[in-house]
Amino acid sequence: MQPQDVSQQTRDLRDMSTAEIAELVAELGQPSFRTKQIVSWVWEKNVSSFDEMTNLPKSLRTALAERCHLGAVDEAACQRSKDGSRKYLVRFEDGTSVECVGMPSGSRLTVCASTQAGCGMKCSFCATGAAGLTRSLSASEIYQQVIHVRDDFDMRITGVVMMGQGEPFANYDATLAALRRLNDPNGLGIGARHLTVSTCGIIPMITRFSREPEQFTLAVSLHSAVQRTRDALMPGVRRYSLLRLYDAMGEYADRTGRRPTYEYALIKGVNDTDEELTYLCDFCRDTLCHVNLIQLNDVAGSRFRPSSPERANDFVRRLASVGVEATIRRSRGADIDAACGQLKQRFT
Ligand code: SAH
Repeated sequence: MQPQDVSQQTRDLRDMSTAEIAELVAELGQPSFRTKQIVSWVWEKNVSSFDEMTNLPKSLRTALAERCHLGAVDEAACQRSKDGSRKYLVRFEDGTSVECVGMPSGSRLTVCASTQAGCGMKCSFCATGAAGLTRSLSASEIYQQVIHVRDDFDMRITGVVMMGQGEPFANYDATLAALRRLNDPNGLGIGARHLTVSTCGIIPMITRFSREPEQFTLAVSLHSAVQRTRDALMPGVRRYSLLRLYDAMGEYADRTGRRPTYEYALIKGVNDTDEELTYLCDFCRDTLCHVNLIQLNDVAGSRFRPSSPERANDFVRRLASVGVEATIRRSRGADIDAACGQLKQRFT
C-alpha cells in the first residue's frame, strides 16, 4: 500500500488509458515497448506494487512510483452461495464500496459487475434503488471488480454482465472504457459478444451504444409493455415512453443486426396479467429480440411477490406463439442476496 499522502497527490496508474501510459513512457525517455509491459502488469497481472514489475529496469520502476500509485481494492466481505456463486463487497480508496458477483458454471465464469455505487433510478422492486445513488465508478473501478473475481476463483473470466448496482448508461463513458479494457487482448481479452450491458432504458444512450464499433451485447429492463405499469415500476425512466423505446430498439437492431434482450421480472398481479401479456406480445412481435423472464427475487420490505412458475411458462408459450423467443432465467445466489435486484452497498 502507498502512504495516503502519496496516493492523494499522484495519479492512479490503473485509471490511465494505454495512450496516457504511452505518453508517460515517452516523457520518461523510455522505448515504446514499455507501454505494453506496464499495461500487462496493471491490467492483466493486477500487481499491487511497482517492484513486482520485474521486467522493467529498477530506475523506471522508481520513476513510475514517483509519478503514480496503484489504487487498491479491498475485499470487505465475501459470501458463498450453495450454487457456487460468490458475492463480494469491494471497497475503493475513498471508502466507497459496491457488490459484485462471480457465477461459475462448469468451466465458465461470469461476473456481474456494478457501474455505480447505489443507483438513482428508483425502480420500486429493486433493493439497490432504495438507498439512492452514492457516486458513479471510474472505468478502473468497474474493471477491478472483474479482476478481483478472477483472482479469487483463479479462473479465466468468460463473460461479464454490467448488471450489478447502478445504471450503466448513467455512467456511459466509464462503462464503455471498462468494456474496452475487458475486451482488449492486453486486458482480459473477453469477446465483445460476451460483454453485456443492461440499461433501464435511457434512450439517447441506447442510440449512442448502437453506434459503437464493438459488438457488445445489450439488455434492456422492460418489466412491462403497459405505460402506466412501467411508469409505476420504473419511475426513473418515465420520461422515455415505451413508444420511443420501441423505435430506439428498432433502430438498434437495424444498425447493429444484433438481437437485444428484454428483461422482465414477473410480479404477481402486477405485470403478469393477461392484459400485460398481450401488450408484451405486441411490443415484441416482428422485432429482433429475446425475452428473459426473471423470477422476482425477494427484497426486504417489498410488497411485490413473484409469479408462479406456471405463469412464467404461460408467458413463454404465448410469446412463442407470436414468434418471440423467451427463456426463464434461473436465479443465482438468491441464498446470499446476490440475485438480481438484491445488491446493496453493505452486507447485512
Ligand atoms: N440499471 C440497469 C442494470 C441493473 S441489471 C438495469 O436496470 O437494467 C439488474 C436487473 O435485475 C434489471 O433488469 C433489474 O430490473 C432486475 N431486478 C431488479 N430488482 C429485481 C428483483 N427484485 N427481482 C428480479 N429482478 C430484479
